[in-house]
Amino acid sequence: MATQKVVGCLGGGQLGRMLAESANKRNIPIVFLDSPNAPAKQITANSAHEHVDGSFKDAKAIEQLASKVDILTVEIEHVDTEILERLESEGKVKVEPSWRTLRVVQDKYAQKEHLREAGVGVVDGIALEKGTVEELWQVVARLGGFPVMLKSRREAYDGRGNFKIKSENDFGPALEALGGKGKGGVLYVERWAAFRMELAVMVVKTKDGGLAYPTTETIHTSESICKLTYTPARGISAKLAKQAQELAKKAVKSLWGKGVFGVEMFLLQDGSLVINEIAPRPHNSGHYTIEACHVSQYDSHLSAILDEPLPQECLEMRVPAAIMLNVLGGETKDSHMIVKRKAAALFGPIGFHDYGKGDARKGRKMGHITVTATSMAKAEALVQPLIEFVDSGND
Ligand code: ADP
Ligand code: MG
Repeated sequence: MATQKVVGCLGGGQLGRMLAESANKRNIPIVFLDSPNAPAKQITANSAHEHVDGSFKDAKAIEQLASKVDILTVEIEHVDTEILERLESEGKVKVEPSWRTLRVVQDKYAQKEHLREAGVGVVDGIALEKGTVEELWQVVARLGGFPVMLKSRREAYDGRGNFKIKSENDFGPALEALGGKGKGGVLYVERWAAFRMELAVMVVKTKDGGLAYPTTETIHTSESICKLTYTPARGISAKLAKQAQELAKKAVKSLWGKGVFGVEMFLLQDGSLVINEIAPRPHNSGHYTIEACHVSQYDSHLSAILDEPLPQECLEMRVPAAIMLNVLGGETKDSHMIVKRKAAALFGPIGFHDYGKGDARKGRKMGHITVTATSMAKAEALVQPLIEFVDSGND
């Protein structure tokens, strides 16, 4: 008899929350490890499978979660992979995607080295061994001059590990801001990618190979936080969209295990594509799939890790165009609620996702909305008043 496997998820933020919504629909038991009342825990309450309170970096807490489930997955890559390796080698739990993937991806520089070795084009970068101003001078010269992007190797998200260096005046503040002054192995420097646009593809790695969602255009704020996604990507040829999907699949093929992967790319001025980074989990650039595709990235993730069938057609769009707008925290703690009210006035409750995070902090992802339409022009016209409302500071 086929029995329903129990899924455990390290991290219970908004990605976990949407994974829980998808699991609920299919009656797949899912248990989260995160702080009490984390966004994902607000969705599922099942007395037979109680959530675990604690940190997804804490080996003991991970072990406790593992004892309750058949398969462990993640909504964040910054987890303790040593314990995952041990639990899997002892046959206590399956980890999807593999801890090997999480280990290589969680160090952005190691991730880039790995992709380069796999024959996938990435932005040029050099790791800092000393974290000094002198070393920065040398590295900037090797990368062809200013500007460059100084990046944290670990724990980076939503632009928080990035510092754009425009001149030598930024060296000191950049090393300080990213906590890498006088340290080796903490930071690396990337050549500035003067991209035409940013693209992203969600890839699903199943036991049978890789499937790709459509190519999405992503737009980030000046603080490097994702603000908008447009699917299909605007103004690129079908050939280029396909190339982006193929590159994303090639990159993900070089990693281990099953699940969805978010692949961020830069389209450079000469028309070539390079990978920016890969997330081994559901991703912001794939939120649109909930309203716009037959099967969402969250549904696909569950199918992949549970070895359930997933035909490619499921990943296709069921509407011609979709735009996703992130609702970021503003100046006040209720800023997102004001945006939510405006969205309701414009669209009713359609397409709005409130992550249940409580008070807003500036730049924090509080929710998102996906608008779909019969053409991109119509979707743009629909969402424009909300973008203007958000840009005007919600007044
Ligand atoms: P995060 O983990 O915060 O998403 P990323 O490395 O993806 O960090 O950087 C966030 C954003 O910063 C990118 O989506 C892009 O807009 C910008 N960015 C990152 N690296 C570069 C680069 N080398 N050149 C130009 N812009 C960059
Ligand atoms: Mg990124």
